[in-house]
Amino acid sequence: MYHLNESLMQSAKQFADRPAFVFMGETTTYAQFNQQVEHLAAGLAQHGIGKGDAVALLMDNRPHFVIAYYAILRVGAVVVPMNPIYTAREISFILSNSKAKAAIALSALQPVLTPMKDEIEDLQLLIYSESIENEITIDQLVKEGQESEVGYAEPERNEDDLAVILYTSGTTGQPKGAMLSHRNMASNADAMGILFELVPEDRMVAVLPMFHVFCMTVCMNGPIQTGAAIIIVPKFHPVDVLQTIREQKATCFAGVPTMYNYLLQVPTATKEDFSSIRIYCSGGASMPVELLHKFEAKYDAKVLEGYGLSEAAPATTFNPLHGTRKPGSVGIDIPLVKNKVVDPEGNEVARGEVGELVVQGPNVMIGYLGLPDDTAAALRDGWLYTGDMARMDEEGYVYIVDRKKDMILVDGYNVYPREVEEVLYQHPAIIEAAVIGIPDEVHGEAVKAFVALKEIAVSQEDIMAFCRDKLAKYKVPRQVEFVAELPKNTTGKILRRSLRTT
Ligand code: AMP
Repeated sequence: MYHLNESLMQSAKQFADRPAFVFMGETTTYAQFNQQVEHLAAGLAQHGIGKGDAVALLMDNRPHFVIAYYAILRVGAVVVPMNPIYTAREISFILSNSKAKAAIALSALQPVLTPMKDEIEDLQLLIYSESIENEITIDQLVKEGQESEVGYAEPERNEDDLAVILYTSGTTGQPKGAMLSHRNMASNADAMGILFELVPEDRMVAVLPMFHVFCMTVCMNGPIQTGAAIIIVPKFHPVDVLQTIREQKATCFAGVPTMYNYLLQVPTATKEDFSSIRIYCSGGASMPVELLHKFEAKYDAKVLEGYGLSEAAPATTFNPLHGTRKPGSVGIDIPLVKNKVVDPEGNEVARGEVGELVVQGPNVMIGYLGLPDDTAAALRDGWLYTGDMARMDEEGYVYIVDRKKDMILVDGYNVYPREVEEVLYQHPAIIEAAVIGIPDEVHGEAVKAFVALKEIAVSQEDIMAFCRDKLAKYKVPRQVEFVAELPKNTTGKILRRSLRTT
């Protein structure tokens, strides 16, 4: 049975004395972890939280995140993870939309959250990470739960029960809540364990934000299912991450491409720093091939790139650990999941041709909360339409061309930003690059590049000339803007969207 509660309970039994997570050098075993979950679950139950209730979780990477996540699930409630740096408007929207009955949050959010309790109908209970006058804290609830004689009543476990609602940013309008069941989440965590051949001795670095599904599945639920250790890192600072890897003898690292880029730029880093790592995984955005090669050469590493999206809990393809790995490709179907590339009518295109990537498997979401039309548009004939354009080679390796909505139309020709970015990354002076479309009176749209440079003198014309050698004329940027750094979201993904509004 695929169920997140089952996973933790099994690991707590089987690997009671093994480390579940390490934070700031302090280790918590699976038995201790499970006990804290039980106490917090009992505390939540005392305050009326139970099956089917939505509970928002606004927390950065720390043990409280993992404990609260599993305690919410233990009473049969649903986790609504949120980026704790969201604005009051965004938080209020998600709390109302998910009908959250409670929120477990960082204390810093108290001035924002406490007034919302009076404004949002369903919101009844706020629990904070550190003590604040007149407010309830997580530790207090744990204590209440510990002292309670009633405990909590664990509801019957059903794979189809809703486990998590993930709000995806969406480029227009309000965020949408992707509803993911225990089967969705646990089957994907299981697939990751199989792919990476995770064993209880593994030590996974969790430096991606835990509120994002990439970290949740790959760095949290996957290791918990296997009985492996999670090395919780609060924030990404390349030098600190290196130190943690060394000190904690981490064996697995998962990151977005920008993290690999920052790690590559650390001048003092050597391959010895990374010697304990046996698996690197990259996802969330395309890994420029040039960056992949440079990282692997410098650190004697092998990076496996995969692809996923919130609506699929998230992984759908990965390059295999053994066998052929193809740089530039996001790999092949992961266990139990099928991917295919289709034309606008939903018919599979010939291998090598570009179309929209669609996915089928136990990881595909139930739908978007309260949005039947959006659900019907995303889930058609049993397939999830990803909104990503891709091609598949004869051996089933998928190449993400780009997001459908990021495509640029120059004189009626399709330009995929990624293709231009791949070329820009080959330029010796460029650290990071992103490409967008800008309105052009003559051509409809034109390509504009934003680049961050190393300390090497180079002109805009040099960069355009470099591109002219490698790209068809209509794909060559007509404008190049130098920036100190590209805008990124908290996961580290480059935000083309914010470049469009600059
Ligand atoms: P999210 O739902 O926030 O996880 O974002 C999912 C989106 O990230 C996908 O629809 C893709 O556009 C993008 N994405 C994820 N992994 C990759 C990858 N390896 N290569 C290119 N794009 C990716």
